Amino acid sequence: MLTKSRTDIAGVELPELEQALAGLGQPRFHARQIFQWIHRRGVCDFALMSDLSRELRATLDEHFEIQTPAIVRREQSSDGTTKFLLRLADGKRIETVCIPDNPSGSTDVLEADRVTFCVSTQVGCAMRCAFCLTGKMGIDRNLTAGEIVGQVRVLVRELNLPDHRFNIVLMGMGEPLHNYEATMKALRILADEHGMGLSPRRVTLSTVGVLPALERLATEPVMPNLAISLHATTQEQRDLLVPINRKYSIEELLNACRRFPLKRRERITFEYVMLKDVNDTPEDARRLVRLLTGIKGKVNLLPLNEAAGIPFERPSDAAVNRFARILSERGVTVSVRKSRGRDIRAACGQLITESSRDAAPGRRLALAMSSAP
Ligand code: SAH
Repeated sequence: MLTKSRTDIAGVELPELEQALAGLGQPRFHARQIFQWIHRRGVCDFALMSDLSRELRATLDEHFEIQTPAIVRREQSSDGTTKFLLRLADGKRIETVCIPDNPSGSTDVLEADRVTFCVSTQVGCAMRCAFCLTGKMGIDRNLTAGEIVGQVRVLVRELNLPDHRFNIVLMGMGEPLHNYEATMKALRILADEHGMGLSPRRVTLSTVGVLPALERLATEPVMPNLAISLHATTQEQRDLLVPINRKYSIEELLNACRRFPLKRRERITFEYVMLKDVNDTPEDARRLVRLLTGIKGKVNLLPLNEAAGIPFERPSDAAVNRFARILSERGVTVSVRKSRGRDIRAACGQLITESSRDAAPGRRLALAMSSAP
């Protein structure tokens, strides 16, 4: 039997949904109700949308489905960070992380001062940055807008945060500017006042700097905060660490940052992964200061999260502090990212899904050894 494939309504923007309803001969105003049910109340079954007529619910069911990523595994770190392994409709897997920030030391997400969701935009990643585990997977496919928003719906539901404010960082698996359309659509859905009403100011998009997409982002009417994964201070060094630099040079990238429209108090965050004896010298720090001259920016140092298969080491705290001091003495705002959820592999650059983790050489070796007589 041929089943007609239904559109995932969770990835449809409100104006689009109004049009779709009109096309089905239904009043447009129902679109807001449906949108609210899905994005504000987290309902994933048309049958539960009690203010819609039975007939409309049946029509919706015929043309649409509400896809929601399924939870395969949930792990909680000793620091309160929770990582979810999610399964998508086609069986592909992604990871999503919730990071509560609580100065009092409590790990209860409901007591946190600030809650940050780290959301994926692709299954895997094509960028192959030399120090990132996700990059080792390669790219499988882009996520749809519905799947990007779906991660947020799952986190809100599972952590019981419907009325809690949260921030989103697009720092999970994938390169958001390599999946531009779906990422921007997801941000519009999240921002819609009839849904979650999440201000784009609460969203940070982190990118290696896919230049044409970055230039397009600069023209968007509503924009997330921008974080650039810089990681190096010379063309040669960045070519090795962030391979897309061979296509879009560090110089072009920084020029695009100079042109990037920022409001009065906004600044671009430059992420800088710190690799022992590779890019952590005082000379690197001084070069970084020079590179950023004339850009409204700040630097976020990311001491490497080490992992098997990553051929770099994390510098000592002293080396990180020395680097940070050089920047701050020269007037550059600098912070050091606290690594969260490392005990459950939820930290930056550690997101990788099980099927590919199984295929990683180290894991295969371990399996082979454990099956030895
Ligand atoms: N694709 C986006 C999001 C990546 S994750 C980007 O490249 O910006 C967010 C940050 O974590 C990026 O700056 C990324 O380079 C960094 N990162 C990747 N692997 C890391 C690791 N092993 N240790 C510390 N930071 C890492």
